[in-house]
Amino acid sequence: MQVPVDDYLAEVLAACRQDAGELNSSIPELARADPDQLAVAVCVGGGRVYAAGDAGARFSIQSLSKPFVYALALRDHGVGFVESKVDVEPSGDPFNEISVEEESGRPRNPMINIGALTVHALVGEERLDAAQRFERVRAGLSAFAGRRLEVDEAVFTSELDHAHRNLALAHLVRSREIFTLDPHEVVEGYSRQCSLVVDTRDLAVMGMTLASAGRNPLTGEQVVSEQICRQVLSVMTTCGMYNAAGDWMTDVGIPAKSGVSGGVLGALPGQAGIGAFSPRLDAHGNSTRAVAVCERLSADLGLHLMSPP
Ligand code: GLU
Repeated sequence: MQVPVDDYLAEVLAACRQDAGELNSSIPELARADPDQLAVAVCVGGGRVYAAGDAGARFSIQSLSKPFVYALALRDHGVGFVESKVDVEPSGDPFNEISVEEESGRPRNPMINIGALTVHALVGEERLDAAQRFERVRAGLSAFAGRRLEVDEAVFTSELDHAHRNLALAHLVRSREIFTLDPHEVVEGYSRQCSLVVDTRDLAVMGMTLASAGRNPLTGEQVVSEQICRQVLSVMTTCGMYNAAGDWMTDVGIPAKSGVSGGVLGALPGQAGIGAFSPRLDAHGNSTRAVAVCERLSADLGLHLMSPP
């Protein structure tokens, strides 16, 4: 018997409503989230979005911005140049570690903070001021989402007030001259980037844009090239889920990225974009319920990339 997709998604959520995990504490404003929120959305070809739960609940994008800003830097400068600044190797370390290649000082990958700060600094031409660079980032992320994204000023202020470690990371990269901008401006712009507000449907659409070779399924805009999507999805596959990327890939098998506000975004090339959201996090910083939702979808629908079709 066929179950309507929305009903099936509601069933998945009901099965994943456990209470494990803690709210993020590194950014005080995030600790004010309602811990019971739970949502899933799936975007398929033609831009159709199926959703269940608190799909309209809004939250700051946090690290889910990283693959998209990486895509923007690749669009502006090409794969070779960006790789000369930020490597594509998994670090195996927590997201805010000093994970650099020793000889060159190059951050290990763009999905951890030290690499993402560097990638933010690479967006646009060097002569842009911080506000212009952030507007370029906002415009790019908005093109992936198919609507203009706004900053949550309370999250931004909270994040910037507690950005000591990101400042240290940015100064370290600057000291090796991997970028030459003022580290304070880079951290401010990056914190604004992380404070852009999305909902779970946006995540599904953004994921589907990556999964559709760079074409937004709602607006039809070609945001980035197919080659850039391949690069971004590859790095998400090996580095996207903090230092649980290996477990994630073996269990779920979908290129994905998670963030400390509780979002998980998946992109299954040619097939679907997936968004899941719930604020309680496990020890790696991944949302406990959103991970469970993705595990369930992958098992039920046979989405693991390594499974035969
Ligand atoms: N804005 C957060 C930070 O830089 C992002 C962390 C995350 O979502 O992994 O610490």
